[in-house]
Amino acid sequence: MTMPSWADPKFGTMKRAALWLVQEVGVGELFTKSQLREAFPNTSQIDRRMRDLRDFGWRIDTNREDPTLGTHEQRFVTQGVAVWEPGKATKKTGVTVTAAERHTLMTQDGHKCRSCGIGPGEQYAGTYVASQLDVARRSVRMPSGEISVQLVIECNRCRIGGRDLVADLDDVLARIGRLPIYERKMLAAWVDQDARSFSETEELWAAYRTLPADSRDKVRDALA
Ligand SMILES: [Zn+2]
Repeated sequence: MTMPSWADPKFGTMKRAALWLVQEVGVGELFTKSQLREAFPNTSQIDRRMRDLRDFGWRIDTNREDPTLGTHEQRFVTQGVAVWEPGKATKKTGVTVTAAERHTLMTQDGHKCRSCGIGPGEQYAGTYVASQLDVARRSVRMPSGEISVQLVIECNRCRIGGRDLVADLDDVLARIGRLPIYERKMLAAWVDQDARSFSETEELWAAYRTLPADSRDKVRDALA
């Protein structure tokens, strides 16, 4: 599919802003607020429309994310979903799912945050703050290189911290391909259980680490 021009008035502002970034700015390059305003002179909410692109896996840094930038500068860091293509920009704000879809996602994701593993209403370690699980968007880099936005269960805390996270399916698949057969089987078992099991050696290591110095010496002697 050929890329339409950013100046094509048949597209909405967010789509045109995405095309403008690709065609006029370029990945990794800087642009200023005045350049943006010049390109979109009659659009009062151009900043906001550009921020909406973040929901589609686009990363645009301001000096909040990147202190080396000036206050009027932004950097186009990562190109996300091709929002100008038909049907790609359908979910514009927030994650709207039906109760049934939400239930399916919760079941698929094992009723736990896929980022930190916390369950619903559990307290974060060292705090009295209880988790709240909800549906979040995760940008996933596919083996084709395209960014796909997929839904995942995440807790409040991870959702706030993980906005710019792009999961890399391509990298995961490539690294699995390089695993020795034994480790591959071990990983397959963890994937089946959706939990990591620990070997006897790893459990012993964890127990050893909690021992006071005198007892650690005894363990060292026993191993010698
Ligand atoms: Zn979490």
